[in-house]
Amino acid sequence: MAALPKKMPRKRTTRKTKLRSEAIDRVCQIRLEGCHNVPTCLCHWRQIDISGMGLKSFDIFGAWGCAYCHEIVDRIGRGDLQVQLDFARAVFRTQAILVSEGKISYG
Ligand SMILES: [Zn+2]
Repeated sequence: MAALPKKMPRKRTTRKTKLRSEAIDRVCQIRLEGCHNVPTCLCHWRQIDISGMGLKSFDIFGAWGCAYCHEIVDRIGRGDLQVQLDFARAVFRTQAILVSEGKISYG
Protein backbone atom coordinates (compact mmCIF):
# COMPACT_ATOMS: atom_id res chain seq x y z
CA MET A 1 0.00 0.00 0.00
CA ALA A 2 1.35 3.39 -0.97
CA ALA A 3 1.98 5.80 1.89
CA LEU A 4 0.06 9.03 1.99
CA PRO A 5 2.13 12.14 1.31
CA LYS A 6 3.26 13.82 4.54
CA LYS A 7 1.84 17.13 3.44
CA MET A 8 -1.49 17.08 1.64
CA PRO A 9 -1.46 19.75 -1.07
CA ARG A 10 -4.58 21.87 -0.94
CA LYS A 11 -5.88 25.31 -0.36
CA ARG A 12 -7.43 26.31 2.92
CA THR A 13 -10.79 27.76 2.09
CA THR A 14 -14.07 28.57 3.71
CA ARG A 15 -15.62 29.83 0.48
CA LYS A 16 -18.44 28.09 -1.32
CA THR A 17 -17.03 25.38 -3.51
CA LYS A 18 -18.92 23.30 -6.06
CA LEU A 19 -19.45 20.37 -3.67
CA ARG A 20 -20.38 22.65 -0.75
CA SER A 21 -22.97 24.35 -2.95
CA GLU A 22 -24.32 20.94 -3.97
CA ALA A 23 -25.04 20.19 -0.30
CA ILE A 24 -27.64 22.95 -0.03
CA ASP A 25 -31.31 21.89 -0.13
CA ARG A 26 -30.53 18.17 0.01
CA VAL A 27 -31.77 15.54 2.45
CA CYS A 28 -29.48 14.63 5.35
CA GLN A 29 -27.50 11.47 4.57
CA ILE A 30 -26.16 10.99 8.11
CA ARG A 31 -29.63 10.11 9.45
CA LEU A 32 -28.89 9.80 13.18
CA GLU A 33 -31.77 9.34 15.60
CA GLY A 34 -33.35 12.79 15.98
CA CYS A 35 -32.25 13.89 12.47
CA HIS A 36 -33.93 17.06 11.18
CA ASN A 37 -33.46 16.03 7.49
CA VAL A 38 -33.18 19.63 6.23
CA PRO A 39 -31.60 22.14 5.78
CA THR A 40 -28.24 20.60 5.00
CA CYS A 41 -24.63 21.58 4.50
CA LEU A 42 -21.48 19.62 3.66
CA CYS A 43 -20.12 17.95 6.82
CA HIS A 44 -16.42 17.18 6.42
CA TRP A 45 -14.98 13.87 7.61
CA ARG A 46 -12.23 14.37 10.18
CA GLN A 47 -9.22 12.11 10.24
CA ILE A 48 -5.74 12.87 11.49
CA ASP A 49 -3.92 12.12 8.22
CA ILE A 50 -6.35 13.96 5.91
CA SER A 51 -7.44 16.92 8.05
CA GLY A 52 -6.17 18.88 11.00
CA MET A 53 -6.59 21.86 13.29
CA GLY A 54 -8.54 24.42 11.29
CA LEU A 55 -7.98 22.40 8.14
CA LYS A 56 -10.97 20.59 6.69
CA SER A 57 -10.58 17.43 4.66
CA PHE A 58 -11.20 17.63 0.92
CA ASP A 59 -14.83 18.30 0.03
CA ILE A 60 -15.04 14.83 -1.53
CA PHE A 61 -14.78 13.46 2.03
CA GLY A 62 -18.01 15.10 3.10
CA ALA A 63 -21.59 14.08 3.72
CA TRP A 64 -24.76 16.10 3.42
CA GLY A 65 -25.93 16.63 6.95
CA CYS A 66 -28.52 18.60 8.87
CA ALA A 67 -27.43 20.87 11.71
CA TYR A 68 -28.44 18.29 14.32
CA CYS A 69 -26.42 15.43 12.80
CA HIS A 70 -23.52 17.79 12.01
CA GLU A 71 -23.29 18.78 15.66
CA ILE A 72 -23.30 15.13 16.74
CA VAL A 73 -20.61 13.92 14.33
CA ASP A 74 -18.40 16.99 14.89
CA ARG A 75 -18.56 17.24 18.67
CA ILE A 76 -20.67 14.99 20.84
CA GLY A 77 -20.17 11.74 18.93
CA ARG A 78 -16.56 12.09 17.82
CA GLY A 79 -15.46 9.26 20.10
CA ASP A 80 -18.51 7.10 19.40
CA LEU A 81 -17.66 4.38 16.87
CA GLN A 82 -21.29 3.81 15.83
CA VAL A 83 -21.75 7.53 15.13
CA GLN A 84 -18.52 7.58 13.13
CA LEU A 85 -19.62 4.49 11.17
CA ASP A 86 -22.95 6.17 10.39
CA PHE A 87 -21.04 9.26 9.29
CA ALA A 88 -18.72 7.21 7.03
CA ARG A 89 -21.76 5.55 5.44
CA ALA A 90 -23.22 9.01 4.88
CA VAL A 91 -20.04 10.09 3.07
CA PHE A 92 -20.37 7.06 0.76
CA ARG A 93 -24.11 7.71 0.19
CA THR A 94 -23.34 11.34 -0.66
CA GLN A 95 -20.59 10.29 -3.08
CA ALA A 96 -22.91 7.72 -4.70
CA ILE A 97 -25.60 10.35 -5.30
CA LEU A 98 -23.05 12.78 -6.73
CA VAL A 99 -21.72 10.09 -9.09
CA SER A 100 -25.25 9.10 -10.18
CA GLU A 101 -26.04 12.75 -10.91
CA GLY A 102 -22.80 13.14 -12.89
CA LYS A 103 -21.50 15.78 -10.49
CA ILE A 104 -18.30 13.84 -9.74
CA SER A 105 -16.57 11.21 -11.83
CA TYR A 106 -13.73 8.75 -11.53
CA GLY A 107 -11.64 6.48 -13.72
ZN1 LIG B 1 -29.54 14.69 9.98
